[in-house]
Amino acid sequence: MKFISTRHQASSLPFSETLLHGIAPDGGLYVPESIPIFDLSHIKRIETKTSFSKFAVDILRPFLKGDLLEQSLESICQEAFNFPVTFFDLDSETSVLELFYGPTAAFKDFGARFLASCLSRLAQQRGISFHILVATSGDTGGAVASAFFQRPNTQVTVLFPKGRISSLQEKQITVWGENVSALAVNGSFDDCQRLVKEMLSDTNSKAKLALTSANSISLGRLLPQILYYASSSLEHCHRHGSEANYIIPSGNLGNAMGAFYARKMGFPLGKIVLVQNANCPLVDYLKNDVWATRPSIPTLANAMDVGNPSNMERLNHLFPTRKEVLSAFEAFSVSDAEIQESIRQGFSKWGQIWCPHTATAGWIRLDQKQGRWIIVATAHPSKFSETVEPLLGRKIPLPSSLAEIYSRPSHFQEIEPELKALQAKIGQTHSFF
Ligand SMILES: *Cc1c(COP(=O)(O)O)cnc(C)c1O
Repeated sequence: MKFISTRHQASSLPFSETLLHGIAPDGGLYVPESIPIFDLSHIKRIETKTSFSKFAVDILRPFLKGDLLEQSLESICQEAFNFPVTFFDLDSETSVLELFYGPTAAFKDFGARFLASCLSRLAQQRGISFHILVATSGDTGGAVASAFFQRPNTQVTVLFPKGRISSLQEKQITVWGENVSALAVNGSFDDCQRLVKEMLSDTNSKAKLALTSANSISLGRLLPQILYYASSSLEHCHRHGSEANYIIPSGNLGNAMGAFYARKMGFPLGKIVLVQNANCPLVDYLKNDVWATRPSIPTLANAMDVGNPSNMERLNHLFPTRKEVLSAFEAFSVSDAEIQESIRQGFSKWGQIWCPHTATAGWIRLDQKQGRWIIVATAHPSKFSETVEPLLGRKIPLPSSLAEIYSRPSHFQEIEPELKALQAKIGQTHSFF
């Protein structure tokens, strides 16, 4: 299997090599040159219950056919997916797919952990060490830091905007040490992202330091997001005898691409609804047929505060005509007031405690949609206790993995938002404690 650029000007590459490039040399994103189709009569026999990681190997194998990592796929999946996925019915028409039982309590653990296992093995095969740079506005940095911690032959530097992320998010980025370092940038998230881009486009330091990125456009983060749609749709079909319809809280559309690919691969997914918060370029696009991005505005569901979704090119590649786009999915926008109302109603109706992201999907189920739907739950509510606790009038205990992080000391250095300052820090190969 090879992967091609959405802009068709770069040569096609196997999976492993796309990981080192990140973005294709023509500025496009890598996508599979063809989607492997699974025969349902065959996949029904794949046991999804006994082991998610075994299921993962069967589903991902065609994507890694002929790749340097093909032989390691089993151990990669075992290492990456060492936490549960839960899928249960709330009532006769509503189910929940909970994706937040990984170490940082959000669905980004699936992608970050798979990518970390892949890059670590690639570096070992080559006898080198990769230096991974990530800019974060909050959640991604924690998932990446935790996923790469103590992985051989990798060194990670996370850049975050100083004083602009929550204290829990800062803890998730700064407690690690060893091969994971944190830099507090005196600036905004956009400054952090610009610094990473500048550093990666400086071919000299890129080659010298074996620099690469771990942002959401990496195929190593995208492919594993197919898995939980594949497995839950099979389980749904088994339980209810029908295709599974999903409501997905969306920002950069990485999670949504996982669902679209799973459906193309032949898994029994029916309708797909994408929910955005007040940042809703996709909703406007469906309505007006004009793609307009804008600066993001802050909302309660801050991991979805995206004005220019990075996976839009992949979506357009998969659905090249307006007709295909319109029949592939629906999109809705949910306001902060509706998020709050959804959190209240989810609790009073079903006893569910939702994070603000999950609540956007919950709201569409409560307010709009009849019929059977699956709410995709993307983060543990305790990560957003300042929003959720006052609405429900109760304390939400942290999962043990997060509570443990709070007890550890933070370490980070500060830099000004300038390339020179970043270069000076990255030049030191050991973690800067
Ligand atoms: C990142 C994130 C999202 C948005 O996912 P995309 O793949 O960017 O669309 C939704 N909810 C949570 C909790 C997230 O961390």
